[in-house]
This record gives sequence, structure tokens and C-alpha cells, in this order.
Amino acid sequence: MWNSPKVGILGGGQLGRMLVESANRLNIQANILDADNSPAKQISAHDGHVTGSFKEPDAVRKLAETCDVITAEIEHVDTYALEEVASKVRVEPSWQAIRTIQNKFNQKEHLRKYGIPMADHRELVNNTPEELAQIGEQLGYPMMLKSKTMAYDGRGNFRVNSKEDIPEALEALKDRPLYSEKWAYFKMELAVMVIKTKDDVLSYPTVETVQEDSICKLVYAPARNVPDAINQQAQALARKAVSAFEGKGAFGVEMFLLEDNSLMLCELASRIHNSGHWTIEGCALSQFDSHIRAILDLPIPPKSLELLQPSIMLNIIGGATPDSHLQATQAALSIPNASIHLYSKGAAKPGRKMGHVTVTAATMHEAETMIQPLVDVVDTMRA
Ligand code: ATP
Ligand code: MG
Ligand code: MG
Repeated sequence: MWNSPKVGILGGGQLGRMLVESANRLNIQANILDADNSPAKQISAHDGHVTGSFKEPDAVRKLAETCDVITAEIEHVDTYALEEVASKVRVEPSWQAIRTIQNKFNQKEHLRKYGIPMADHRELVNNTPEELAQIGEQLGYPMMLKSKTMAYDGRGNFRVNSKEDIPEALEALKDRPLYSEKWAYFKMELAVMVIKTKDDVLSYPTVETVQEDSICKLVYAPARNVPDAINQQAQALARKAVSAFEGKGAFGVEMFLLEDNSLMLCELASRIHNSGHWTIEGCALSQFDSHIRAILDLPIPPKSLELLQPSIMLNIIGGATPDSHLQATQAALSIPNASIHLYSKGAAKPGRKMGHVTVTAATMHEAETMIQPLVDVVDTMRA
């Protein structure tokens, strides 16, 4: 039957958990590779899961034996293990795509060949102060020093305001492979979820993302006060960027909207993405539904990716106390049209994503008014 193939997922965090929620509704078995009791495993009772890490080749091999198609909720996986098992099991998106994308510098070098606009950047070869000072002269200050690999939630970025910051920047990112980016003076950050299927590249509407301390805090769907022409251009740019990679599934594309209304790519993820959580309530098919369908070659009516009603997503991020996320979420219980998603990660750590809340309404203004009391609560609980 169409739903008999088993899906293997590298990683059982909140993204894997929401993939399992979608798979469950279609009676599709998802086998998770992660630690026991990881968030995704908690809502999926069967004996097909694998205990271990998506960085361990043996564990990836074991998962491959039990599945028809393998996907990943995170890009920081062992792509050499994926390359090896790709002869026996389908890997979506391709291990080549994940390998190129997981290194932000390689990702940008690849996308450059396709004419995707990006901030000018330079690779560091020796990670010395002299080398970075020379790059600073070329790119100007401020510039963003970035780790090429293992970056998430801004952990891997350091803003270098002047030559004087160079020693501190290199210390903060020491022992990591680095490149540096010219500062992007954006007026807004936008994101588009792209779904690559066997014969199509589809996209969800353009959303506005607001980061605080480099972590995504709020997502507005659609982006506020952005003309439809820019919404369409952003979707087209996102689809063009994703088309540069092989394989099926969801890709998250982050962009900067500059002062002159031009668009620039910030980065791309080879997976379902935080900027697409709003699609659970905001669209007929969520990014998780679409990802499962795309990797199994099941139909995705493009109309199901259109916005049903304005939506705002607020991340519930760990604050000063281990239960801050529960206190914040308690306030959401009384907000009309608020859909609460807790990830069941245990005690909160500062800066850790513990859950999210999405509010939908007939107008964006109404959604903003409804969610504001919760934004106020979250702001008072910051670590
Ligand atoms: P994610 O959690 O999205 O994977 P990340 O750690 O990979 O994040 P980036 O997406 O590269 O980091 O950057 C995080 C944030 O830092 C961006 O959303 C943006 O707000 C800011 N930023 C990144 N690059 C630049 C730049 N060149 N100029 C100005 N701001 C930037
Ligand atoms: Mg990133
Ligand atoms: Mg990012």
C-alpha cells in the first residue's frame, strides 16, 4: 500500500517529533535514530526505533536495515554513513545535498554558481588575527565571523565591530573552521519553506522572522507590510536556491530584505525548519505533512500550501528557571486560537527551544493583539 514504506529519521528532537505527528496520521511508521526517550520516540510506540546517534555510522547502518527511505531532521549528520547506505535505501534529500549544506561556506560556494545573491564573504585558512584583519579591510566593519560547521541558533556567529574585536572573536570561535561575511544591513528577515518533490519545486508563502540574540523568536505569516511582488520574488529565489540541490523533501530558506527591497540569501537548511512551524495551523498541509509526502512520492496539491489565515508563531525558549517554559505556556492556555506545542525535552536550559505557540486570526492585526500578552510574559521570563 501507499503508506507501507517505513521512514527512518536521523534525529528525534522537536522536528522529528512533529514529523512523527504527521506520519502517525497517515499510519506511516517512522523509525527514529536518537537516544531513548527522545521527544520523537515518546509519541511513537513500536519496536523499529534505533538507539544511538545520527553521527555514528553503525547506528545509521542499523536504521537503514529497517527502512525504505531515510531522512534527517538535522543537517549535522554523518553524511559518509548516508553515502554508504544510499546503495541500499533511498536517502532524501540526497547525502550530497546534506553534505554541501551542512558546511555553510561550501553551501555558499555552491549557490554562487547558480547566481543566488548573498553577502560577500571570505574563507579563513589559518584563523590568525593577521588574516582576519586583512579580511576586515576587504569586507569592512562590522562583519560577521561564522563557523562553517555545526552552527545553529547563532552559536557559531560572532559580530566583529572593529579591528579591536578580532582577538575576542577568534577566541570565541577557536578550533572551528571559519569564514567571515560582510554585514547585511537588512530591514527585515524573511523565510520561505520549499518542498522539493519528484517532479516539482513548491513553496509556502513568504514569512517574516524576528530573531533575538540570534535565535528565532517570532514568525509572522504572511510577512507584515511586504508587497505581494516581494513575497513572490522571495518564493522564486528560495525555489531557485533549493533547485541547486538533489533530493526530495522540505528545505528552509532564510533571506534578508535589504533597504532597497532587494533580497539576499542568509542560509539554507536541508530539512523542516522553525520558520515553517506556523504551517501546522496556517495551511491545509503543514511542512511536516509535505515533507513526508514528498519523500514518499505522495501527491501534494499546491493549493494545500497556501495560507488559510494569518498566523503568528512564538518560540518558547528556556529562561532563567527549569520550568520557565511551563509558566510561559500556562499563559497561552487562556489565549483564543492559540495552538500550543510543547516538545517534552525535560528541564529547560537557557536559550533552548522548549516549545512554540501559534495564534491564527482573520487578520494579522487581530493575531498580533491576541498573542501580545504571551509575548509580554515570555519577555519577562528571559534568562
Ligand atoms: P540557525 O539557527 O538559523 O541555523 P545559524 O546559527 O546558522 O542560525 P545564521 O542564520 O547564519 O546562524 O545567522 C543568525 C542570525 O544572525 C541571522 O538570522 C541574522 O539575524 C544574523 N546575521 C547572520 N549573518 C548576518 C550578516 N551577514 N549580516 C548581518 N546579520 C547577520
Ligand atoms: Mg543555520
Ligand atoms: Mg539561520
